Amino acid sequence: MSTTLSIHKPVRDKEKFLIFGSPLIGEGEIEEVVASLTSGWLGTGPKVARFEDEFRAYKGAPHAAAVNSCTAALHLSLLAAGLKPGDEVLTTAMTFCATVNAIIHAGATPVIVDVDPKTMNMDPERARAKIGPRTKAILPVHFAGRPCDMDALCGLAERHGLALIEDCAHAIETEYKGRKAGTFGDFGCFSFYVTKNIVTGEGGMVLARKPEDNARIKTLALHGMSQDAWKRFSDEGYKHYQVVEPGFKYNMMDLQAAIGIHQLKRIDACWEARRRIWALYNEAFAGLPLGLPAPVEPDTRHAYHLYTILVDEARTGVSRDEFLRRMNAENIGVGVHYLAIPEHPYYRKTYGWMPESYPHATRVGRQSVSLPISAKLTEQDAADVVAAVKKALGA
Ligand SMILES: *Cc1c(COP(=O)(O)O)cnc(C)c1O
Repeated sequence: MSTTLSIHKPVRDKEKFLIFGSPLIGEGEIEEVVASLTSGWLGTGPKVARFEDEFRAYKGAPHAAAVNSCTAALHLSLLAAGLKPGDEVLTTAMTFCATVNAIIHAGATPVIVDVDPKTMNMDPERARAKIGPRTKAILPVHFAGRPCDMDALCGLAERHGLALIEDCAHAIETEYKGRKAGTFGDFGCFSFYVTKNIVTGEGGMVLARKPEDNARIKTLALHGMSQDAWKRFSDEGYKHYQVVEPGFKYNMMDLQAAIGIHQLKRIDACWEARRRIWALYNEAFAGLPLGLPAPVEPDTRHAYHLYTILVDEARTGVSRDEFLRRMNAENIGVGVHYLAIPEHPYYRKTYGWMPESYPHATRVGRQSVSLPISAKLTEQDAADVVAAVKKALGA
């Protein structure tokens, strides 16, 4: 019996595997990190203060508190919102698990809301239907960098006296009707994780509206010690600190801020680079049997954090998971953002959430594929992604 060996020639060579979400790191970051190392001040210090100030200025916010992740930012914001056990917090069924876990760790009860199938953001009408006597806060996520319907959500928060906490992990550059994401509510929480639009390795930021919330978050982020305790070893002489409540170890390091300061300087250029890739993908995929991101709504700014396509097996003849496997075989890194929250066993078991009760989030989670859209991508990289998508679809 003779066999024909078909040699698979991938779109990219194995050694050139396109890593999903690989960050663009410049000389500025490298020199600043080395300078921090040489100075001997690695931990929380003047560079964190500078990064807070520059980020605050970029967002036009009154206060900023740097922390070591967006998860920490969410946790501290929920604590500062004064939630008590039994209080309910509305959030979206289409988010990263950290959003929901932060609510649980703050001692409150998460209540998830299905998304609008076009925007993939929390559906305000469905959110309204879930508001009850125990609802104390609402925690929307600007999914992929597309702003939520903030007129509707702010209206809900106001009418029902709810704290508003924005998960802006995807939404550093996002704007809605001229206003920046993270400045609508009581707290805006940002991530500088390695795949996000600004990276510090691990890192996060809280923009609190009220000065007392900002102060509480800074205290809680460093063991509950009285403020500016990080200066206790400075050349101003040893200073005693006082613990005013049991806090956490959520402070950002100067080593991380050193990276962030230079990332922030390039934010607009990187946004523009991602916007171009977004437009290139839209054009290249227009005739394919894929679900593409909805157009950017008028009077908004999309952060272009994720470019997600929907692979519906009924239309493509290829399952989502097979599509993921094929992209990987072409040496293109892809992601899934996200399996809907009720797909995870812990939440199903603990809260009784069923995927079929959140049909839009569940369908998105089962069909979604995130393609690389980092500012680091060259034109050739983007062309390789397009070629691999077409090949994976058998088009
Ligand atoms: C990444 C992410 C987080 C968590 O951010 P970390 O900085 O990794 O803690 C929270 N919410 C969403 C929507 C995210 O994408």
